[in-house]
Amino acid sequence: MTLFRYFAEMCEKIESIPGSLEMTDVVSGMLQEIEEDELPVVTNFVMGAVFPPWSTKLLGIGSRTLYTALAKSAGTSEKEIEDIIRKTGDIGETAVEALKQDSSTQLTFDSYIEEEKELTILEVYERLNHMANSSGKNSQATKVKNLQYLFNATSAVEARYLSRLVVEEMRIGVGEGIVRDAISRAFDVPVDMVERAFMLTNDLGIVAMAAKHGGKEEVAKLDLQLNRPIKMMLAQITPSVESAINDLGKIAVEWKFDGARVQIHKNGDKIRIFSRRLEDVTSSLPDIVAAVKDQVKSETVILDGEAVAVDENGRPRAFQDILKRFRRKYDVEIAVKSIPLTLNLFDILYLNGESLLDMSLRDRRELLTGCVDNDYRIHVDSQVITDDETEIQRIYEEALNAGHEGIMLKNPDAPYSPGKRGKNWLKKKPIMETLDLVVIGAEWGYGRRANLIGSYALAAFEPESGKFLPIGKVATGFTDEKLAELTDMFKDLIVMESGTQIEVRPEIVFEIAFEEIQKSSNYESGYALRFPRLVGVREDKSPEEAETLERISQIYKSQWE
Ligand code: AMP
Repeated sequence: MTLFRYFAEMCEKIESIPGSLEMTDVVSGMLQEIEEDELPVVTNFVMGAVFPPWSTKLLGIGSRTLYTALAKSAGTSEKEIEDIIRKTGDIGETAVEALKQDSSTQLTFDSYIEEEKELTILEVYERLNHMANSSGKNSQATKVKNLQYLFNATSAVEARYLSRLVVEEMRIGVGEGIVRDAISRAFDVPVDMVERAFMLTNDLGIVAMAAKHGGKEEVAKLDLQLNRPIKMMLAQITPSVESAINDLGKIAVEWKFDGARVQIHKNGDKIRIFSRRLEDVTSSLPDIVAAVKDQVKSETVILDGEAVAVDENGRPRAFQDILKRFRRKYDVEIAVKSIPLTLNLFDILYLNGESLLDMSLRDRRELLTGCVDNDYRIHVDSQVITDDETEIQRIYEEALNAGHEGIMLKNPDAPYSPGKRGKNWLKKKPIMETLDLVVIGAEWGYGRRANLIGSYALAAFEPESGKFLPIGKVATGFTDEKLAELTDMFKDLIVMESGTQIEVRPEIVFEIAFEEIQKSSNYESGYALRFPRLVGVREDKSPEEAETLERISQIYKSQWE
């Protein structure tokens, strides 16, 4: 069993490296050194996550809880902890300073093997897992107690990375891209195989274990599995129907329904539904569960579709309504009655024990139609394959007239590519494209709005490094009521405050309208937005699903085409 101290020292080393190649080397070395059962934990830890992306578990430790635990462990006050954080600007350094430990000693790998008093990686994981499982009114106290236990058992370097880990903000620059490359290098498996296995399992820990255990052969065996959601295939915007025809030739045209994405796993009578963020939303959607049970004939199947909240005329209702359904935990039956849903299925990923991902959309569609009995709750909507621009335009107008968002233009010969946004799925919507950006900071207002957060710092996501790169600020588009609501929402995410400036944990995604993207040296992303304004909060999106820098630069370029 490897000591947590080893992991912490590796993090320290990685943090000091500027280049991603060298970082990959260190991560790869670490993956080789540790034991097989530690791989799932370490692959997540190093990216600042405690559980894999598909897991429904939440650690639920906010900065408040962490401050309390640190204060107790250090025998000081929370106020003192806040003072230190203001000074150091980092929760890791704050832990080191508060606990006043000496971080100078370094060990060799042999000495990282379990010793009696020192924490192992798996022990830290077990404690965190225990905290995630605690619920009810004593759960905060349980979390504080467990954190205290951990802090009392750690050295300085461990405290630094433990405290960052528990708020799930590692800040060492390691994202999925680096871990993927490190697995490839450590166990000599081609990187595209690792990538594919990751797409199918949505869990780099599982991929790393297979790679260590049986190399290429074992990784190749990894496949889609019922009840383990995979990332959804995504769409890229197309400037015009004409350019889509140029790109794709014959196009499978579907309505772009105005609702929320669902991935449905059916195993006999057991149905599970996952949201676009791959959260398990089954218990909020009993009407969809019942419809799938009644109308989907196959024994085991994974389906992809859009749940739409409808009014009495069958027209889509506001997006907020559907979110209310997805988030509902209590009195679900009341919500089912007041906000009825219909399910539009448009893809099938797995049928009777077989993955269909490599099959063409055309063939998948046939299987999908074959296993669903349409009724008023659930249906496979029509899809037209054509290269006739007028026909496509007609479907587009039809979709808009029915209150939906636009159309999807899909390559009928393409496989299903989990997590990919590419040319095989294009979308056409009438409104000017908006950007989904992550809030990384904020600023208290002044005057009448002194108690409200008045402006938000926005960032795009860079998947390679896992970093959020600033791209601008938004301070318009808010009513006073919205400002109060958002202030409340962000209060729990504050990492640090200095004067009126606030740093927040990157968790919330804003949908931002803008006039133009400009090049700018003011922000780390290299871009800035002209006239950004808030359209809404994308509660269905995780920060990693925000716009990537690559997409920002694509849009930047497309502005001039
Ligand atoms: P966007 O969220 O703007 O990137 O658009 C992609 C989303 O459109 C998907 O994630 C689905 O939730 C939704 N959608 C609606 N209808 C379809 C459809 N026929 N095919 C694929 N996605 C659809």
